[in-house]
Order: sequence, then structure tokens, then C-alpha cells
Amino acid sequence: MNIDESIKILKRDIHKCVQKVAISVRKYDDTAVRMALVALEKQITVKPIILDILIGDIDYACPLCGKRVMSDAETKSNYCNECGCKFDWSEIDEID
Ligand SMILES: [Zn+2]
Repeated sequence: MNIDESIKILKRDIHKCVQKVAISVRKYDDTAVRMALVALEKQITVKPIILDILIGDIDYACPLCGKRVMSDAETKSNYCNECGCKFDWSEIDEID
């Protein structure tokens, strides 16, 4: 099972309509499921938005939170230090 499939299953598992008797228990369960969803969604790699590539430096922005970063191309981060999402640098690494 991949991350996308896990997310679909967990989203289906969040209770959208609940009976009054079970509300407190289910709300607690739903919180756990929502927390798992947030953690899983951050594991999906996203391609950073490349704004500029200078000699040895790369200027990019996170596609999820918009955080702009100027970094050394060699030591660029694999994760956004603002929202924690994972970056996919494969295309950029191919250019190098
Ligand atoms: Zn971000």
C-alpha cells in the first residue's frame, strides 16, 4: 500500500455524521485519524518551485506554504523548514 492509498482509506474513515451517544468517542478517534492524515500528507514529496538557479545557489519556494528559500545547491534541504513537507529534487539533480 502506498501513501496515497493510505490517505484515501483514512479520509473515508473520518466519521462525517455521528449519532449523539457516540459523539465523544468518535470525535476522539477522528482526531487520531486526522493527525495521521496530516503526518502522511507530509510524506508525499512535492516539487519545489524553482525561482532562480545561480552559480552554486538555488532560489526556491515551497509549493505548499509558499516559504521562499535561498540555498546552496549542494546543501539544499530535503524538507521545508516552515511546514515540514518533503521535497522532490530529482529533476533539479538531473540538470546538475
Ligand atoms: Zn512549506
